[in-house]
Amino acid sequence: MTELLLKNVRPLGGAKVDILIREGRIARIGGDLACGGPAEDGAGAIALPAMVEAHAHLDKSLWGMGWHAHQAGPTLEDKISTERRLRRELNIDPARQSARQVALAAANGTTAIRSHVDIDTDQKLWCFEGVSATRERFRDVMDIEIVAFPQSGMMIRPGTLELMDEALANGADVVGGLDPCGIDRDPKGQLDAVFHLAEKHGKPIDIHLHEPDELGAFSLEMIVERTRALAMRGKVTVSHAFCLGMTDRARAHALVEKLAREDIAVATTAPASRPVPAAAELRNAGVRLCAGSDGIRDTWGPYGNLDMLERALFIGLRNNFRRDDEVEYALHICTQGGADVMALKDYGLREGAFADIVLVDAETVAEAVAARPRRKLVLKRGKPVARDSQALFTVE
Ligand SMILES: [Zn+2]
Repeated sequence: MTELLLKNVRPLGGAKVDILIREGRIARIGGDLACGGPAEDGAGAIALPAMVEAHAHLDKSLWGMGWHAHQAGPTLEDKISTERRLRRELNIDPARQSARQVALAAANGTTAIRSHVDIDTDQKLWCFEGVSATRERFRDVMDIEIVAFPQSGMMIRPGTLELMDEALANGADVVGGLDPCGIDRDPKGQLDAVFHLAEKHGKPIDIHLHEPDELGAFSLEMIVERTRALAMRGKVTVSHAFCLGMTDRARAHALVEKLAREDIAVATTAPASRPVPAAAELRNAGVRLCAGSDGIRDTWGPYGNLDMLERALFIGLRNNFRRDDEVEYALHICTQGGADVMALKDYGLREGAFADIVLVDAETVAEAVAARPRRKLVLKRGKPVARDSQALFTVE
């Protein structure tokens, strides 16, 4: 029987307790527990549930490949076509780059990732196969969910739909989509195809929706209609949903209520440069909200580090959160919010749950978000995977 005792830790900033871990799960939380195995002294550190990166692109970072001067033009189409070109020119190998990101995410206290993975008629299933290999290789370190993502468009690139179908038959977990008006200029065609794939394979959906204002609202309503018609309540996520940040607040609120009725979740990166869904409005309406880093250090842009404690800070800043309970909610989006959207089983800091835990030195949870201290210890199913913000395993 494998046991580990975490001594003197404060779950979510509460009173000091011990956490007994047995066979990868939290067996007991209480005072002065005994253990047959090794012990770790938390010395009063806060214990957090490990973070959930609910929107990443593991196939496309340049992490570890030296500094890349940004080349793409300003539009979405520029970024997509530049990336397709540079992926081969720079040899952005999806298996190698996804492995590097697993180590980075673990070092930052993340133990579950939903990754969109490009599928197009140039790369075919190269990215999917690379990230699938990484998922298998790091099965004990990271739960990875793969979204089959038609980054270059679906209706405008014949053959993409068939490749997505193949990926879903071979282990992709989620059906992706992308700006059905803005990229494909065929919202009915793309959304019917996406929902058909979801129905055929029995998989959930996660659609990137960058379309602003009324255009985004139009697409969002088409997503809501299909979710209702096909009884996919609770199985659809819309990523970004910038249209919910539109200046017509009454219109945005009516859209939020429609999302709530169909239990459609929203994934945000809380970017500083775009309007975003208002986190408190979504919470009050009962809409599930998760967060992610999106692409990091890639041909799309020079920023990012897969640190979900930092992402909670960005959510706080973007939503003007100041009170402790508000800042705690920002972190909740990056932990339980992601676990809800990924439907992670037995997640959380409670007896019986998997022991996916991060220790940080801070007075309160809000201070942990504000100060982003190093991650003292990261456990995946009770096993240490990172210490002092360094992964305990190596990747090339
Ligand atoms: Zn994305």
